[in-house]
Amino acid sequence: MGTVMAVGAHTGDAQLTMGLYLAKAASKGHKIVTLDLTAGERGCPPHIPMDEFRQLNTESAAGFAKAFGGDSVVLDTPDGELNYSQELAVKIGDIMRSYHVDTVLCHWKNSMHKDHIAASRLTQDAVFFASLPTFTRPLPPAPIKRWLYAENWEDSEGFAPYMYFDVSDVFEDWKAAVRQLYLTEHSRDFK
Ligand SMILES: [Zn+2]
Repeated sequence: MGTVMAVGAHTGDAQLTMGLYLAKAASKGHKIVTLDLTAGERGCPPHIPMDEFRQLNTESAAGFAKAFGGDSVVLDTPDGELNYSQELAVKIGDIMRSYHVDTVLCHWKNSMHKDHIAASRLTQDAVFFASLPTFTRPLPPAPIKRWLYAENWEDSEGFAPYMYFDVSDVFEDWKAAVRQLYLTEHSRDFK
């Protein structure tokens, strides 16, 4: 069995746009991991302080992953300040190595959100650094064989879907897990 890692710019991105793939993979016995590059704390509603919202989003992400027997990792990059750097790409690659990831899901390269564009490039380079046997790191390379972009209305410019899969058997499980993200903007639609 393999390990699927979904990399999102903000908590909510991976869970909403890549979550059905994760649910399907988990139903087939694969391990799933969500990696949120920021906690999306600047999307806090007026009545919740940003620090508190960061904590709530981090807990929400953990709850989502746990619903599928998986793990959640949330980096401490400030929301809105996600930028490309090789240092961060190597760090993400090391996380991929630590989970022995074989499938990576990520943002498409074009987006209306700067953090999503950075996340796409960071993930692309992280896959390179995680896979390259001659790039010496403390852990062995991750056996990444599959790399897919998620469909997302925010990242739709130039995106042409070509892979479809039946989610009818996991749709309700995914919806229940999304309710773990009760404080994010989008998850209110799932109440
Ligand atoms: Zn986002």
